Amino acid sequence: MQLTHKELIPGQLAAEETLFHVANGYLGVRGCFEEGYPDGVPSVRGCYINGFYDDIELSYPERLYGFPERAQRIVNLPDVQTVLLWLDDERFDPFAGELLAFERTLDAEKGVYTRRVRWRSPRGKTVEIEIARMASFTRPELFYTQYRVESVDFQGEARFECAVDCDVTNFHDPDDPRVASGPQQHIFFDSAQVSADKATALCHTGVSGLSLAVCQKLKLEGGDVRYRSEKAGFSACASIRLSPGQAACLERHIVFSDSRRQASPLGRADAVAEECWSAGGAALLEEQRAWLERFWQVSRVEIDGCPEEDVGIAFSLYQLLQSAGKDSIGNVSAKGLSGEGYEGHYFWDTEIYILPFFLFTQPEIARQLLNFRYSMLDSARIHARLMGHSRGALYPWRTITGSECSSFFPAGSAQYHISGDVAHSFTQYWYATGDEAYMAGKGLEVLLETARLWIDAGHFDRQGRFCIACVTGPDEYTCMINNNYYTNQAARHNLLGAAAVYRALAAKGLHRQAAEKIGFDEAELAGFEQAAEAMYLPYDEKLGINAQDDSFLDKPRWDFKLAPLNHSPLLMRYHPLYLYRHQICKQADTVLSHYLFDEGVDESTMRNSFDYYEELTTHDSSLSCSAFSIMAARLGLVEKAYTYYQHTSRIDLDNTHGNTRDGLHAANLGGAWLALIAGFAGLRLRKNGLHFRFTLPERWDGYRFKVWYKESLIAVSVRRDAVTVELERGEAVTVHVDGKPLYIPSAVRLEGIAK
Ligand code: BGC
Repeated sequence: MQLTHKELIPGQLAAEETLFHVANGYLGVRGCFEEGYPDGVPSVRGCYINGFYDDIELSYPERLYGFPERAQRIVNLPDVQTVLLWLDDERFDPFAGELLAFERTLDAEKGVYTRRVRWRSPRGKTVEIEIARMASFTRPELFYTQYRVESVDFQGEARFECAVDCDVTNFHDPDDPRVASGPQQHIFFDSAQVSADKATALCHTGVSGLSLAVCQKLKLEGGDVRYRSEKAGFSACASIRLSPGQAACLERHIVFSDSRRQASPLGRADAVAEECWSAGGAALLEEQRAWLERFWQVSRVEIDGCPEEDVGIAFSLYQLLQSAGKDSIGNVSAKGLSGEGYEGHYFWDTEIYILPFFLFTQPEIARQLLNFRYSMLDSARIHARLMGHSRGALYPWRTITGSECSSFFPAGSAQYHISGDVAHSFTQYWYATGDEAYMAGKGLEVLLETARLWIDAGHFDRQGRFCIACVTGPDEYTCMINNNYYTNQAARHNLLGAAAVYRALAAKGLHRQAAEKIGFDEAELAGFEQAAEAMYLPYDEKLGINAQDDSFLDKPRWDFKLAPLNHSPLLMRYHPLYLYRHQICKQADTVLSHYLFDEGVDESTMRNSFDYYEELTTHDSSLSCSAFSIMAARLGLVEKAYTYYQHTSRIDLDNTHGNTRDGLHAANLGGAWLALIAGFAGLRLRKNGLHFRFTLPERWDGYRFKVWYKESLIAVSVRRDAVTVELERGEAVTVHVDGKPLYIPSAVRLEGIAK
């Protein structure tokens, strides 16, 4: 997959910095120009490490009990992007002189982003420049750049000035609640060690007390390189003589190391820089390509008959890979590592929208994402106590290290469903892998503790129904209500999942580690099952739909004539209370639950609910269209599903939400995979196995994908004439197609299945 842009349009550069960022799950560098832009051209010059944060004070004029006092924020790291190219006394600047050719490409097979320019300077020197960048998947601390300049008619000295500037601040936008509002410096320069062959700077964060080292080591064949310290960092100058037809290639190894992962970041950064330098650029690039080849062998989804969408899905999957933390310290923030929107926080986006892609194609990464949640189970227990619960674990709505970072509780901490979402991801992992050791060591503990929360948070009402009062569901335009259908379903599945996994492990004596650790009494299981059994799931007889909550359907419907939708989301134009008083949805809520928790829900309830909520949903959240796409496909509305799929797959590529500048919509990228695999291919993972219901949109000739299930890799090809389900690796396996078991010993061809 290659994403190529061939025009330099100043107003689009900030969004393109996101599209062309390079990241590897640990480190992310936005796709800014090395030489910068002229004043006035919008840009977010940024570079981030997953989970590397500073603390900020949260101030409330009326602070009530339990409001978080501090939040974490991802830190904009020292700026390592600057390379100024001088041709004698003229500096390369694509905005001056003549830009004879321009092209930038993200290559997802090579794992490299390249910018190519042919430029004539104001005084007539012509050069060709090719700058390739990579965030290495095999050496996550490495940001590598190859800066090649070829002289067309220039005779003289080419000089590269490469700076590492530790005097940087985070980006802020006072007018957008989705971006930090206060300008802040979070990183402070301590010292630089400069030697003849490299330079390293040490910095610390303002409040969180973390430290960071960044090392730069250059290579310029046939040239001269000198390093020097600067007021807040260091720089290096590499020079070489060029004649027409000659080229010079500067290789730049920038290595970061941080104190959340390493005891001695300075020593580590230096050592890794040396290793990378010795390995050589060609080997580093080849490692990257080979690593990605293995990734794509399993994770690629191909769409036949529609090249743009084939690129679109590959783009989404590649960006997911770039975004996902792979070391259990970093997770997947709402913007991946591509920008500062939502301050680098992790939400339910990971478990519901992103994790399935990894679970089915790269289970090792999925396991790391689960480990991350396991590692913050203690914080979730503390959070539950703070919220008044005597038992159980409540995951924070948004966080980096485990504490609640939401300062607006109605659409933040009140979203208790996140605990059910986390539990859901562990249950899905169990169904997908049957990994007893993992569940015995970690998964069961999470399931039991989250299940306990519901027992404490809910109550039996006078009619004996188990109710959960005063929570917020996924739809953030409806807050603090009783019995959100989605939340109650998530809780019900959490309770049942915990009980089922407990019993399965107990049958083999594997439950003890978790049970003993948390003092779990088997008698609690009966309580889980009773509550699940009696769970109140709002249903409206007259409309034949699941009510989003107890009061939703009694509110006035939003008047779209009076308050029409436009490009800016309603949350930017209406006070929250005004939104809460109406039937209006920011995003899929009940419809999403019909995808995730559909067992026992009849077809007509799903269909009626889909129609009802579709009319009221603004899709102001990018998490919405994919859920509608999945459910439209489920209900046989394939062309409608396809329209939603198109919205999903283009959000960042076309900047349809207008805020791609602030980073990718990571959940939506996962939503694209889901819309295809859970939507058109109808994949569901249940207690009794893996299910498919294949459909194919008119516009496509077919699509192909692979999924891991237990120890088997299954390759699926859906075409109009036939579906082929093939066992690519592992043991013969049984899946379900349209509800019927299908044994796959090798390859099975199903005629006329795709509707
Ligand atoms: C959505 C949330 C989501 C968050 C981060 C919000 O706009 O409403 O559901 O978790 O963005 O992506």
